[in-house]
Amino acid sequence: MSRPGGFSRFILPLLLLPLLPRAAAAQDPLARTTLVVFITVDQMRGDYLDRFGAQLTGGLARLKTGGAVFANASLDYAITETAPGHATGMSGRFPRSTGIFSNSLGVYDPQAPSIGGGAAPASPFRFRGSTLIDWMRSRNPQSRALSVSRKDRGAILPMGRAQQEVYWYASDGRFTTSTYYADTLPAWVRQFNARRLPHQYAGKAWTPLLPASEYPEPDSVTVENRGQGIVFPHVAPADSALAARVLPNYPWMDQLTLDFALDGLRQLDLGQGPAVDLLAISLSTTDAVGHAFGPDSRELHDQILRLDRALGAFFDRLFQIRDSAGVIVALTADHGVTPFPEVYSARTGRPAGQVDLSGVAGIVRARILARGVDSSAWQWEDGVLWMDRGAFTRAGVSADFAVREFMTAARENPGVLRVDQVRSLAQQDTSRDYVSRRWLHMIPPELPVEVVVTLKEHYVWGPASYAMHGSPHDDDARVPIMLYGAPFKPGAYRDNARVVDLAPTLAAVLGVAPTERVDGRVLRAALRSAGTN
Ligand SMILES: [Zn+2]
Repeated sequence: MSRPGGFSRFILPLLLLPLLPRAAAAQDPLARTTLVVFITVDQMRGDYLDRFGAQLTGGLARLKTGGAVFANASLDYAITETAPGHATGMSGRFPRSTGIFSNSLGVYDPQAPSIGGGAAPASPFRFRGSTLIDWMRSRNPQSRALSVSRKDRGAILPMGRAQQEVYWYASDGRFTTSTYYADTLPAWVRQFNARRLPHQYAGKAWTPLLPASEYPEPDSVTVENRGQGIVFPHVAPADSALAARVLPNYPWMDQLTLDFALDGLRQLDLGQGPAVDLLAISLSTTDAVGHAFGPDSRELHDQILRLDRALGAFFDRLFQIRDSAGVIVALTADHGVTPFPEVYSARTGRPAGQVDLSGVAGIVRARILARGVDSSAWQWEDGVLWMDRGAFTRAGVSADFAVREFMTAARENPGVLRVDQVRSLAQQDTSRDYVSRRWLHMIPPELPVEVVVTLKEHYVWGPASYAMHGSPHDDDARVPIMLYGAPFKPGAYRDNARVVDLAPTLAAVLGVAPTERVDGRVLRAALRSAGTN
């Protein structure tokens, strides 16, 4: 690490200046930090740690007992999907600032094909600004990063735009990358792929880890998995190519991702100096299982236990090859999940359901098209109405009238909580009104979003045949933050932490400063040297 005075080399926003002496002071006792491991569990609710706590014995247990745990941290923005979540954890900024608004406006990029095919073309071209690895490299250009996931967005977005080693899973059973990062796969990735590990799961059965009596959840719930294969065991297809393609639906995908990450760490010599390195891992099976079977299922319960065991084995192996005293681990999630409405209603007796406003939006759209407005001027998708007001003006049609007509009709749906014009959100009391606040944190100012519709809690956008997330409510927005390693004070923290706090907190313990303004703050309560940090 370079000296504290090195900060003077950088031109930083004035807002950051008061942080500098504190951030710089943190580095001396932590000079041994060699590696940051950032783990995202795709679709992990904050309450899982308590709900399954007694049965956790592996990696989650290690982080829970030995780390600083914010079990109910918040994403604190509205569209709680995978792409915005992965863009937030290492940037310290809300989607309004990263520009990653939704999965559909995520990493898809036809100009960046995947190497060898089998995966969608992808790049971070929509991502704006910097992330932790950029700040680390500003401090010491020799810092390197490896980011791996089953999903392209899970691997790409934690790195922002940085062209580091970034790999994701292709449907043919290989890990690959896109031309944004490289023209060919390096030898170590080709060698890992040549082992054809995914194909070896053909015909294998996923059975519960523990005896059936250890699972309070019923196994036979007909709404699960579209009514197909709802009970254990879940057997992978006998055909090996097919098994590789559907591997993301099984706990073995997380195991494979962790094996690949560890192999990459070894091959790239990460965490061996001369600078601090970053290993980012996003584990996606919890999302696949949660969507298919729901958060109240026996399958989800077993998946969390298997994730815990896989992480335990991963840490054991990692700490055999790297001194644990030099390793920092941060774990969070990109979003939670809302139960199947049918399951929630049966369990609680409370109302829940699906809402589909495409008919309402379609009626208004047909009217304005009939009056000559261009068809691209009115787009409706999952709670968001996009409008090109210029097209209304050109056609001589009142945009305000169309908006009012839609808002009035939308409010009549019993599952709708509120319908807001984006321009009015900032006038709300955003300290108490979390819905307004979370939408404000969501929408980049240049996006022509006119109206946002928020459903009541436990209502989801339909038609859907799997459990959903993506709402501003806590089922989807509450996720854990766990910080483990020498700089952190173990304990359960009740503080109102947010995922945007993660990157500035890691930066502070590494003695680097964000190179732009961030939304998060340093979680000082969790730091051993809180007084001097
Ligand atoms: Zn996700």
